[in-house]
Amino acid sequence: MIKVLEHPLVSKDISIIRSKDTDSEAFRSAINRIGSHLAIESLYNLELTEHEIQTPLESTIGYQINTKVLVIPILRAGLALLPAFQSIYPDLLVGYAALKRNEKTFECDEYYYSIPKIDNNTLVVILEIMLATGASINTLLSKLEIEGASRIKVVAVVSAPEGLERIASNYPDVEIITATVDRELNSKKYILPGLGDAGDRINNTVE
Ligand code: URA
Repeated sequence: MIKVLEHPLVSKDISIIRSKDTDSEAFRSAINRIGSHLAIESLYNLELTEHEIQTPLESTIGYQINTKVLVIPILRAGLALLPAFQSIYPDLLVGYAALKRNEKTFECDEYYYSIPKIDNNTLVVILEIMLATGASINTLLSKLEIEGASRIKVVAVVSAPEGLERIASNYPDVEIITATVDRELNSKKYILPGLGDAGDRINNTVE
């Protein structure tokens, strides 16, 4: 299932990150705001358990989150979404997957992987800024499947139809939540109209 965020505040922030005139600080701020929308949308169906709490006036029913949430930002760009997720749900667990795009094959090379234990009650949420070919996410999903992850969502800011189709056909049970779907990939597998190299813009390393 693919869910595209529809919210005027998200449309406004997508325009900010698209513009080549936006500096790195404003770019990160807009990503953080979009990240909050993505966090709320992707965590909407966590399971709750009831318990009794005492207000100053009487006792009533309170709620605790029962689902174990594991968020995995794909380094480097996906890291920029982590503060928004931690701010919305401070108790989540964090794992890391560093997957670098191979500029010749356009597939990806792994250079770091550290994920806490996954059980039946774990919801895994993968954080990515640009879902282009889907190569990184495809690689990560195959590893997570081996580790027994049964509930997985993918969150992306900008997605290309090619990458969405690849993930949806290889992993039909994985829900994808994206802030926008762009037109296509160019010959170098960059998203059009897109926003350029997200990692460089976040880290202020645009040359
Ligand atoms: N990664 C990026 O940073 N930008 C793209 O357009 C595609 C992949």
